[in-house]
Amino acid sequence: MVISKFRKKKGLGVIMSDKIYVVGHKSPDTDSVCSAIALAKLKELMGETNVVPCSAGKLNKETEYVLNFYGVAIPEVLESVEAKQKLILVDHNEYGQAVAGADQATLVQIVDHHKVGGFQTAEPLYVRIEPVGSTCTIVAQCFKEKGFTPDKAIAGILLAAILSDTVIFKSPTCTELDKTVAAELAAIAGVEPMAWGIGMFQASSSLADRSNQSMIEEDLKAFTMGPHKVGVGQVSLMGLAGFEDVRASLTAAIEAHRVAQEMRYLCLMITDILTDATELIVTGDNPEEVAKAFGKELVKGSVDLPGVLSRKKQVVPQMTTYFSA
Ligand code: MG
Ligand code: MG
Ligand code: MG
Repeated sequence: MVISKFRKKKGLGVIMSDKIYVVGHKSPDTDSVCSAIALAKLKELMGETNVVPCSAGKLNKETEYVLNFYGVAIPEVLESVEAKQKLILVDHNEYGQAVAGADQATLVQIVDHHKVGGFQTAEPLYVRIEPVGSTCTIVAQCFKEKGFTPDKAIAGILLAAILSDTVIFKSPTCTELDKTVAAELAAIAGVEPMAWGIGMFQASSSLADRSNQSMIEEDLKAFTMGPHKVGVGQVSLMGLAGFEDVRASLTAAIEAHRVAQEMRYLCLMITDILTDATELIVTGDNPEEVAKAFGKELVKGSVDLPGVLSRKKQVVPQMTTYFSA
């Protein structure tokens, strides 16, 4: 059985477990939330009316902006599952990134675009993992393959997630398929992708209305790298105005969070979308070790990574290789 905050507030209590929950990773980003909503919608169109989209935590500002823009309802928050609960995972496949209890649930499907992190299941399941820029690219393909066209709102949120995950097509994770699918979705949503994507990042990337803790947690993922538990978060900004003012307090907050989470290292990518560069703030007992993973030196607690936009392609593999050696 699953109890979500939303339902508890509404007094609906425990949700029936014959439902199938579609849920992305913890610290949900736009791709993980929008792929869950869109996949549930596709299943509904296919006659499966028991599929419920959820988010594995509070939405970030960007995702709220996207759902509000297209008038799409905020999904329920799924904090934990008991089980045998039927679950579809989107935008992740590692239990460490999944809602609590996912390893005890019955996984019926995985739709993702990340490396396979080593999951075990008791039953066979549908798995679709492709090396494209966003999970929503795959979900949009599923609509086509099943003979359905997403409505304007669903097309809009699918497009937004592609623009978010590929950093408006600039990330090295972006593929030709992402661009083709985005153009098709933009035509349905009635927006120009580049301009809309810039507007989305501008609306949600201001430093002024973010606390240190929200920046640390809004897109934080935990990884096992060799013997270490390592966290890597990412904050995307349109320019670094005001960043120096928060650097010291933010770094202290990252260190406190690392200790609380018992991580060997906790790194936060400060990614400037305007200049295509990342500053990686590193906390941990030997932060220079993280710098070595990139063949770099640590300067003022950070590693300078020009040209780096993608955690998945340009940060995690380098660190994993270094710490696994
Ligand atoms: Mg994601
Ligand atoms: Mg994604
Ligand atoms: Mg992301």
